[in-house]
Amino acid sequence: MLPDQKLSEHFSLYELTATSNAALQAANRDLTPEQLGKLCALAALCEELRAICGNTPMRVHSGYRSPALNGNTAGSSSTSQHPRCEAVDFDIPGQTLQESFDLIRAAARAGKIKFGQLIIERAERSYGIAEWVHCSVIGTLDPLKVGMVMEMQMVDGKPHYILVEKFNFATPQKGENE
Ligand SMILES: [Zn+2]
Repeated sequence: MLPDQKLSEHFSLYELTATSNAALQAANRDLTPEQLGKLCALAALCEELRAICGNTPMRVHSGYRSPALNGNTAGSSSTSQHPRCEAVDFDIPGQTLQESFDLIRAAARAGKIKFGQLIIERAERSYGIAEWVHCSVIGTLDPLKVGMVMEMQMVDGKPHYILVEKFNFATPQKGENE
C-alpha cells in the first residue's frame, strides 16, 4: 500500500482511492508507477472540474477502483473507466448535481474543458437513492464514446443511459485545418 501523497493542489492519492469497502481498501492503494501517473492525470481533470464548479471543495465518492473492488460495486460495469484510473464520481457540497452538470457542459461548449464522458449517475443503496456526477479523462475510452454527456435513470431497478449531448473533442489530424 502506498503512503498518502498529493497528486495535485487539492487532490490526494487517498482521496482518489478511497472506498467504503474496508476489506478492499488497502489493496485499492497498491498501485504501480503507471497507475500513479494516470491518477495524476485524473487529479488534473478534478482540478479543472473544481475550478469550473466555482472553486469550492469537491466531495469525491470514488476514483480508482481495482478490478476486485469494481466487481463488488453495485451497478458498475466491467468496461468502467474506474479500474483504469480514468474516472471520478463526485458532488459539490452546496450545489445540486444539475448545477454542477450544467456548469461543466457550459465550460465544454466554451472550449474550456475536454472529457471522456460526463454522466449524472444514480444507484439504489440500502439507505435510498445515491446520486453523483461521473466524469472521466479521454484516456483509453472508445473514441466513439468520447464527448458523450448522459443521464442515468433507474428503470425497474436497472440503469438506463440517455444521451443528452455529444461534444466533438477530436483533435484535428495533421494536415487538416492547416
Ligand atoms: Zn463513475
